[in-house]
Amino acid sequence: MTIIEARYEMYRTVGGLVRTAKILGISSATLWKEFKAGGLPLKPRGAQAGEANTMKRPEVQAKFLGDLNPSKRLDVRRKIHLAKLGARNGTWKGGRSIGYYRRIGLKPECESCGSRRHLQVHHLDKNRANNNSGNLKTLCARCHVRHHRAERG
Ligand SMILES: [Zn+2]
Ligand SMILES: [Zn+2]
Repeated sequence: MTIIEARYEMYRTVGGLVRTAKILGISSATLWKEFKAGGLPLKPRGAQAGEANTMKRPEVQAKFLGDLNPSKRLDVRRKIHLAKLGARNGTWKGGRSIGYYRRIGLKPECESCGSRRHLQVHHLDKNRANNNSGNLKTLCARCHVRHHRAERG
């Protein structure tokens, strides 16, 4: 499938030249010229009524936006958002799994309050790459967040 054909199929599904062009980040005049040059028939105006929110459907997003620009897909955007959140968050485990920390000596309970739920690893020197046992402290999510909040002041 050529890029024009892909765009055309998207236009047929989305309904609306302007809307399709907007999603693609190009002008509707350019898109119209492309379709015309490719001999692709355009729907008469108003024919797309009722198809308004097709692009919000995940399967449609995956089909079209996924091929053309994965970063525009809602599920991908959500993952990127969460990844950024994690990096900013002081309680982030730095990509290491909780299983990894269990193997290297995570305690069965929070060292601050004794809770056994939602256990996380705190790095005393704030260096998440330093996983020496002396640098690790087992904290529950609540104590961990509280600790970093207090640190930030
Ligand atoms: Zn705790
Ligand atoms: Zn921490």
